Amino acid sequence: MPATLGIIGYPIAHSISPIFQQAALDHCSIDATYQAFEVAPEQVGRFVGDLRREGLWGINVTVPHKETVILHLDQVDDWATAAGAVNTIVNREGYLTGHNTDGLGFLRALQDEAGFVPEGSRVLVLGAGGAARGVVLALSRAKAASLIIANRTLERAQLLAELAQSADTEGCAIPLGGRDLAKAAGEADLIVNCTTIGMSHGPDEAGSPLPAASIPSTVLVNDLVYNPLETPLLEAAARAGAACLGGIHMLVYQGAASFEMWTAQDAPVAVMLEAATKAMAAR
Ligand code: NAP
Repeated sequence: MPATLGIIGYPIAHSISPIFQQAALDHCSIDATYQAFEVAPEQVGRFVGDLRREGLWGINVTVPHKETVILHLDQVDDWATAAGAVNTIVNREGYLTGHNTDGLGFLRALQDEAGFVPEGSRVLVLGAGGAARGVVLALSRAKAASLIIANRTLERAQLLAELAQSADTEGCAIPLGGRDLAKAAGEADLIVNCTTIGMSHGPDEAGSPLPAASIPSTVLVNDLVYNPLETPLLEAAARAGAACLGGIHMLVYQGAASFEMWTAQDAPVAVMLEAATKAMAAR
C-alpha cells in the first residue's frame, strides 16, 4: 500500500503543496500519495493523534493550525520552538516530531536562487506577522548585520526588532511609510515583503508596500507573496533595475526541506519549482 503524506489547513483548497510534492514523489519513484486534508480547528487533536498509525509518514501544517498542533506533538525542534509554529510533522513509529522549515526554506531560496549571502548584510523587512517572524529569525541566525522591520502597527515591528537583536545583528523598528522607510530601502542589500499587500484576494491586491521611487537598482527584492507570481512590488523592482525573487521559491524550498525529512532523500527542487510555477500560472 502506498504511504500517505499531506497537508492540513482550514480552508485548504487553495494549497498547491499537493501538486509540487506529488510531482517530487513521482519523480523519485516513491510509492506515496500527498493529499490535502481540510481539518476544522476542533478536529485537529484527533487528526494529529491518527497520524501515529503505520503508513503515515507525516504532514505539512498551514493556517490556522501552525500554533495549535504543537500541543499534540511529542517533541518540537529548535526552529519551531523559536517561531512558535510548526509547518512539518514527522511520524517515526508513532512518535510525532514538529519542525518549522520556513526559515531554512527562505535562506536556501535566497542562496540557491539569487546567490544572496545574508551574513553581514543590511535587510529591510516589510511586515511583522507570522511570515516576518520566520524571516527575522532566519536572518538573525544567518548573521545579517542589521534588520529594519517596517510595519503598519509599530508595536508588532518593535517585538520583532527585539527578537532580531543579537551579538551579530542590530534590530530596529520603523513605520511602514514615510522618510525612514525610504532611507532604509535606499541603504538595504535585501528587501523582503512579508505583508499581504499585493496578494490576490488580500486587503490591497493592486498595491505595493514600498513606493517605486524608493527601490534602488542595487538591491535584491524578495516578495514572499506568491499569488500572483509577479506582484506590483516585483514589477516596480524590475523597472528600477533591482534583482527580484518571487515567493514561490521560498514556498518550494520549505516544502523541499519537509520532503527530505520524510523520505531521507534529496528533494528534486527543479521539478517541484516547475510544477508549482505551472500550477500558480494556471490560476
Ligand atoms: P499575517 O501574519 O496576517 O501578517 C500580515 C502582515 O501584513 C502584517 O504585518 C500586517 O500589518 C500587514 N498588512 C496587512 N494588510 C495591510 C495593509 N492594508 N497595509 C499595510 N500592512 C498590511 O500574514 P503572514 O502569514 O505573515 O503572511 C504574509 C504574506 O506572506 C502572505 O501573502 C502569505 O501568503 C505570504 N507567505 C509566503 C510564504 C512563502 O513560502 N512564500 C510563507 C508564508 C507567508 P499589521 O501588523 O499592521 O496588521
